[in-house]
Amino acid sequence: MLETDNKTIDETRQGEAFGEGLVDENSGYTKHFYIESYGCQMSFSDSEIVASILNTNGYGATRNLEEADLIFLNTCSIREKAEQTVRKRLTEFKKVKQSKPDLLVGVLGCMAERLKSKLLEQEKLVDIVVGPDAYRSLPALIGEAETGTKAVNVLLSREETYADISPVRLNSNGVTAFVSIMRGCNNMCSFCVVPFTRGRERSRDINSISQECTDLWEGGYKEVTLLGQNVDSYYWVDAETEVSYNFANLLERVAQINPKLRVRFSTSHPKDITDDVLHVMKSYDNICKYIHLPLQSGSTRVLQLMNRPYTREWYKAKVARIKEIMPDCAISADVIAGFCTEEEQDHLDTLDVMRFSAYDFSYMFIYSERPGTLAAKRYTDDVPHEVKQRRLEEIVTLQNELSLASNKKDVGSVFEVLIEGNSKRSDAHWMGRNSQNKVIVFPKRTNETLKPGDYAMVNVHDCTQATLLGTLID
Ligand code: SAM
Ligand code: SF4
Repeated sequence: MLETDNKTIDETRQGEAFGEGLVDENSGYTKHFYIESYGCQMSFSDSEIVASILNTNGYGATRNLEEADLIFLNTCSIREKAEQTVRKRLTEFKKVKQSKPDLLVGVLGCMAERLKSKLLEQEKLVDIVVGPDAYRSLPALIGEAETGTKAVNVLLSREETYADISPVRLNSNGVTAFVSIMRGCNNMCSFCVVPFTRGRERSRDINSISQECTDLWEGGYKEVTLLGQNVDSYYWVDAETEVSYNFANLLERVAQINPKLRVRFSTSHPKDITDDVLHVMKSYDNICKYIHLPLQSGSTRVLQLMNRPYTREWYKAKVARIKEIMPDCAISADVIAGFCTEEEQDHLDTLDVMRFSAYDFSYMFIYSERPGTLAAKRYTDDVPHEVKQRRLEEIVTLQNELSLASNKKDVGSVFEVLIEGNSKRSDAHWMGRNSQNKVIVFPKRTNETLKPGDYAMVNVHDCTQATLLGTLID
């Protein structure tokens, strides 16, 4: 399968169960929930909010399905495949439910919002359906479902940011954490279901964001990623002082918590990222030099159909501006192959912008028509699947070349690496990232004193397409 991992849609984490291994008998919880998350980082972040709400209401998390009284799937609708994965997973719960009739199954998130009560008709074993803005009503909905009534709340809100809810971070590495700064999206890209499933854009109180990041720092975390569908349009006004804050102000505020707290953010929209943001990034060493700048298509004509309000030239100029202000800044992109009416020349235009931008990595997808979106209503999904597939392969091949070239350039350089844990392949190696978000693997020393959360200076001597390989410098 060529559809590749996404920083926001991390395929290796799809369906990850959240919580402790086995139930701790001394935890005080008499009932337990099991939750799996699908989709983008926002969805994983929401599961942490759901966990917090459930904990407060007497439910403990378990990673063991057999111990659960409640099973939740926090779902994604971005591509058809994401929904198919969830439906398949639901069928696997049938047996568990047969052996435990009181067990309740809930669907949360984007798929719940998109399908609403239709989901109850289609998936008979589902008892609870809850949209992304209705998690506070979960305890009441569970109560309702316990009486045998199917429970649904898919109301979207213009205000809900869950600002006062402190997420429970049970699956964390203790080093890096995600902090939601806004919800929803107003952009209406024609291919995208998000504005329909997550509602209108709203920004969270800067003070609660700053407090959450401070708490993370004080709890030993060393990196926060500020999350939103379009972080550059962050805008919050303090009702008391009438002072307004944009994303550049927020970034600066979080960067000032401590110079050793790394700050990342995702996702930027090319139309909204400002010079102010770039200058703040440049001024603070702890703001990571990495921007995820989704391209979607390199053809101005296709971009217009996608309702992305920039041209290929404008996008290139934005990339050039980022490199001018921060020559060491890494850039990645999302690219969609085979959007409606895409011709060979449009596809070549995409490859051309990729080459110009020299992306360090990209997340590449085949266009998947989503019901209800502007594209589904207005255009025909007319590029044959084999053509989409072949174009995706060409995009992936080019990106592989660009990633390898980018990594080769780093050979011989020294980077500050934040250690996240053991390397996947060997406990004798550390794995961490540099500011540019590149994974660096290096051997531990005998009598190692370093630990996850420490910074280390690493000299890169070799690389693969995905990883830099180095050695520690004392
Ligand atoms: N808000 C972010 C942005 O604008 O870049 C990302 C949102 S979305 C969760 C992540 C990526 O999924 C998008 O950038 C796009 O490339 C891809 N995507 C969204 N809808 C899609 C669709 N219908 N088919 C294929 N890919 C899609
Ligand atoms: Fe979807 Fe576009 Fe909003 Fe991203 S900016 S979530 S692609 S509508």
